[in-house]
Amino acid sequence: MKKVILVKNGEIVLKGLNRSTFEDILIKNMRRRLASVGQFTFRKSQSTIVAEPVDDDIDFDEAVSQVSRVFGIVGFSVAAVCEKDIEEIKRTTLEFLGDDLRNVRTFKVNGKRSDKKFPMTSPEIAAEVGAHILSNIHPLKVDVHEPELTVTVEVRDQVLIHGNQRKGAGGLPIGSSGKAALLLSGGIDSPVAGYMMAKRGLMLDAVHFVSPPYTSKRAELKVHALAKLVARYAGRIKLYVVPFTEIQEAIKDHCPEDMFTLIMRRLMMRIAQQIAVGDGCKALITGESLGQVASQTIDALHCTNAVATVPVFRPLIGMDKDEIIDIARRIDTFETSLQPFEDCCTVFTPKHPKTRPTVEMLEEAEAQFDFAPLVARAVKESRYHYIEP
Ligand code: ATP
Ligand code: MG
Repeated sequence: MKKVILVKNGEIVLKGLNRSTFEDILIKNMRRRLASVGQFTFRKSQSTIVAEPVDDDIDFDEAVSQVSRVFGIVGFSVAAVCEKDIEEIKRTTLEFLGDDLRNVRTFKVNGKRSDKKFPMTSPEIAAEVGAHILSNIHPLKVDVHEPELTVTVEVRDQVLIHGNQRKGAGGLPIGSSGKAALLLSGGIDSPVAGYMMAKRGLMLDAVHFVSPPYTSKRAELKVHALAKLVARYAGRIKLYVVPFTEIQEAIKDHCPEDMFTLIMRRLMMRIAQQIAVGDGCKALITGESLGQVASQTIDALHCTNAVATVPVFRPLIGMDKDEIIDIARRIDTFETSLQPFEDCCTVFTPKHPKTRPTVEMLEEAEAQFDFAPLVARAVKESRYHYIEP
């Protein structure tokens, strides 16, 4: 049986003149994501995109799983394709949807004829296919208002038969909103933050700070693993690893202990921003959430933000930890985040962080030492690799 994937795109529809460009980006993203499954051809047709495999013997379950993670898709369905012949339509419907129909109690058939040359009207198609289903599968009832399964028969240039639409990943196609750099730690929050902004159409770079020997190679590998999980949604991620030991030791030697964390945060922002801007990113993304820890109070965030010259997106800012964890579980990063490896943030954590820091206090503390050459060196010595989905 020949099958295709029918994709309904979401907010793209609202984009008026840009619609075609958005659809092209979406198709490019789907093509990339489906490449591991097989080769597909894509066709725009009314408000749907039809993805058709070149070979018939591909793994459709895997194709469905890939498509379900592509942003810019509200809903999609797998459809069987058949000849424009009512007997053929009836036979294919039972073959393709028989198992699904045997698992429900109520159904209805939707006929949609856009090829007016086909000799039956939409209601006639629905009635005939519906009667055929009823006489072959028992016990089953028609419910036109709230059926458990809706069988749709579309007669277009070809006939497409499908069941209930599946939910897509939503959002906007990756790349349609440009690019931003995610400050990615090994924690629970930042992978979720990256997922959320990728959903709004951003392509991601990721920047991760390491402090060997205080942080281990395994901690770094954990971040690779997290980036790979985020990439299942966000597509390929360029991950920068930045050496941060020298800077952390300088902070420890030259700055007041109660401001260690915030000074470190501000230096991270400066470095990430230089790397990001050099790579065409227009914003930074962090996993900060208001009040979650001492370095994320409004005073602390004010201090961190003061060094930023590009917008800083903090999609988790208004969320509780429970809500963040729900998403982390859903996108499958939670378990990996829980692995107990050290992060450079936990090295030299002050016992009593300053409760009401101000930008002036931080500037004064940082003036005790010339960090600029160290920042320049960290940028220069950062290394990147591409993390594929
Ligand atoms: P997360 O769960 O994302 O690690 P957290 O609750 O542990 O967050 P912090 O450790 O204070 O919070 O970090 C706040 C944010 O700073 C993180 O969400 C992340 O964006 C960034 N960050 C922290 N450590 C690093 C690091 N080693 N490399 C890159 N970014 C980092
Ligand atoms: Mg952390």
